[in-house]
Amino acid sequence: MGIKIDNLTGGYGQISVLKNVTFDVKDGEIVGLIGLNGAGKSTTINHIIGNLIPFSGSIKLNNISLEDKPALYKRQIAYIPEMPIFYDELTLKETLELTMLAYNLNRDNTWIKAHKLLKKFRLDNKLNWYPSDFSKGMQQKVMIVNAMITDAKVLIIDEPFIGLDPLAVNDFLELIKEKKEKGVSILMSTHVLSNAEKYCDRFVFMNKGKVIIEGDLKEIRNYASCENKSLNDIYLSLVGNNND
Ligand code: ATP
Repeated sequence: MGIKIDNLTGGYGQISVLKNVTFDVKDGEIVGLIGLNGAGKSTTINHIIGNLIPFSGSIKLNNISLEDKPALYKRQIAYIPEMPIFYDELTLKETLELTMLAYNLNRDNTWIKAHKLLKKFRLDNKLNWYPSDFSKGMQQKVMIVNAMITDAKVLIIDEPFIGLDPLAVNDFLELIKEKKEKGVSILMSTHVLSNAEKYCDRFVFMNKGKVIIEGDLKEIRNYASCENKSLNDIYLSLVGNNND
């Protein structure tokens, strides 16, 4: 089950960006969404989280579509955006409480989880602060804690590493691994291909709104005839050939 995208064509208003995008993310799998600036990664994510409506094709999360059951569809998703987003008038404590309400989570149990995560990210003494006053990295950490306290079966992460210190990157990657072990389907868009190579089970390479190749590292190496090359080198050779 997990995420299933079939022949998705979509974009903004009348502007078509994605063309027949098809891929899936199974339960307990981390898939890396890889592509140059403007390739269509965020647009794909915007479609999955329901911010954009497909022109054609379909998106299902554990067999549920947005049209059929919008509330259930959205409650399955935890989303860590590229740019942190907050309600300016809510403190960190209230921000997390709002997430607990929105996802119908048990407050006591979830606060136990939240306190551990806040301590890990050195935010445990900031509960009464407003996240809008935090540094970019601290804001990104709030987004991570917010997503990690949910029981969402689908985790969507858009370029998570920018702004995080190396310790936080490490902690974050370990948290993603824990979610994977619990069977969560994880789609992660990133330009940091060394992390993608280490942590993702499969990769979807996009270029100009299309999927140009997908598979695990071995399949991608075979496709690109690049034995033993890193994901970064394979990617450079593939986009070089597809970028005319
Ligand atoms: P990056 O790595 O820079 O984040 P990306 O792969 O996420 O890039 P998208 O943001 O999906 O790329 O952009 C894909 C295309 O959609 C680009 O041509 C971009 O100009 C266009 N686009 C993005 N946002 C909008 C918008 N709000 N309205 C119209 N076109 C948009």
